[in-house]
Amino acid sequence: MHELSIARSVIDLAVKNCLDNGTTTIEKIILSIGAASGVMPEALSFAFDVIKQGTIAGGAALCINTVPVSGVCSDCTKEFVSHDGYFIINCPHCNSAAITVTGGFDLDMVEIDVE
Ligand SMILES: [Zn+2]
Repeated sequence: MHELSIARSVIDLAVKNCLDNGTTTIEKIILSIGAASGVMPEALSFAFDVIKQGTIAGGAALCINTVPVSGVCSDCTKEFVSHDGYFIINCPHCNSAAITVTGGFDLDMVEIDVE
């Protein structure tokens, strides 16, 4: 239930930001989720819809942008991006296993749209 606590944090933060600004209705929250963050977008959307009830985000839509995993290979020194899935085992250029994953771990709140 990792996603439940994430959804709760996202909504708490968005609600706090909006109340601080005198806003009382949140229409949309845009999140950016790294493909290697371990967060399942579908589960997060579901948790969001449950937790938003009764808050000023009760009518808000959740938009999720998935950020691909990126990395760099130690052998051929090329950088790469993986759009499919969480796990990169080998460099797509030279098939080396000596890779370092450099991006795709983060979860960020990109934007809050208010009325
Ligand atoms: Zn390589």
